[in-house]
Amino acid sequence: MRAVVAGAGIGGLTTALALHAAGHEVEVFEAAREILPLGVGINLLPHAAKILADLGLLDDLVARGVATRELVYFNRLGQRIWAEPRGVLAGHAAPQISLPRGVLQSVLLEAAIARLGADRVVCNRRLAGLSQDERQVTGRFVSAEGETSRPSADILVAADGIHSFARAAFYPDEGPPTYSGRILWRATTWAAPFLTGASMIMAGHQDQKFVAYPIGAPRADGLQQINWIAELRIAQSLRREDWNRRGALEDFLPRFQDWRFDWLDVPGLIEGANAVYEYPMVDRDPLSRWSHGRVTLLGDAAHPMYPIGSNGASQAIIDARALAQAFGA
Ligand SMILES: Cc1cc2nc3c(=O)[nH]c(=O)nc-3n(C[C@H](O)[C@H](O)[C@H](O)COP(=O)(O)OP(=O)(O)OC[C@H]3O[C@@H](n4cnc5c(N)ncnc54)[C@H](O)[C@@H]3O)c2cc1C
Repeated sequence: MRAVVAGAGIGGLTTALALHAAGHEVEVFEAAREILPLGVGINLLPHAAKILADLGLLDDLVARGVATRELVYFNRLGQRIWAEPRGVLAGHAAPQISLPRGVLQSVLLEAAIARLGADRVVCNRRLAGLSQDERQVTGRFVSAEGETSRPSADILVAADGIHSFARAAFYPDEGPPTYSGRILWRATTWAAPFLTGASMIMAGHQDQKFVAYPIGAPRADGLQQINWIAELRIAQSLRREDWNRRGALEDFLPRFQDWRFDWLDVPGLIEGANAVYEYPMVDRDPLSRWSHGRVTLLGDAAHPMYPIGSNGASQAIIDARALAQAFGA
């Protein structure tokens, strides 16, 4: 079978690798001119790590990230409420891995180029049209300069993210994603390791929360790259969701100013970041179907999730394997 994948994000690249491993021919088209290692930290839960282990990528991911040991909850005063082991320490077959999203995407991209061939991952081609009949599907991919590619295949997988072209084509009346009433500010900071050095923490409550976890081994000076997310309930989000939108410290730091715990200096961590990104928590209502003939949506295009609780990437990876297994069957 021949497959075309739109989008070289986490879901699209994993789909390409899973379909290739199952013996199919795959070509990936990505809208961005260049695939840059963007994003801050991301978490892979054991069920997703196991799928990437089966694709032969686990050692590389663990070496470049952190096998998370525990998840610990604290209240807004920094008092410990609950802790639980994670990954293999919780009895799973694979670890939970915390790592920079850019590293995850790079590992998937390098594997895709090595296995599919460099000419099979095509950048600067945005999905802009679809047509299908009983024999094949053809995607229309357009470059920033207006050049067009029209690959045909047996199936087309639209892994084109939260602002999916394909989803809007099938559901033109859906409108923008639904705002949850909460905004996230996300960043990484080089800081002293806290707790076990491989702990994920969540402090606070529904309306004001701080999440932090390391995403790599400490460097020579002992500092470790800590990913953090400050979350506040804000009645209205005025800005469209964009993973690369810069945030401003004055919008949220004052609310965390007294969160100085003996095990973590929250305002110190916030002030130590190079760049802070603002993202409104949004999702969409479930669709009645993801697949239309020879085309299916996958990952955030199919079921965008709040980027908390390690959901987005892990679910997209499960989709990839489910699709490859379904074609195998
Ligand atoms: C730049 C960026 C930074 C992110 N940072 C974080 C982060 O720090 N933490 C976190 O938890 N999650 C982050 N995410 C989201 C996270 O990667 C996804 O929620 C999750 O991995 C699901 O993956 P996905 O493949 O469905 O979507 P994504 O990983 O979002 O990938 C979608 C891909 O499709 C491409 N694309 C979009 N439209 C088209 C089109 N019409 N034609 C072809 N290609 C198209 C995009 O450029 C992107 O590469 C980020 C996503 C992006 C794009």
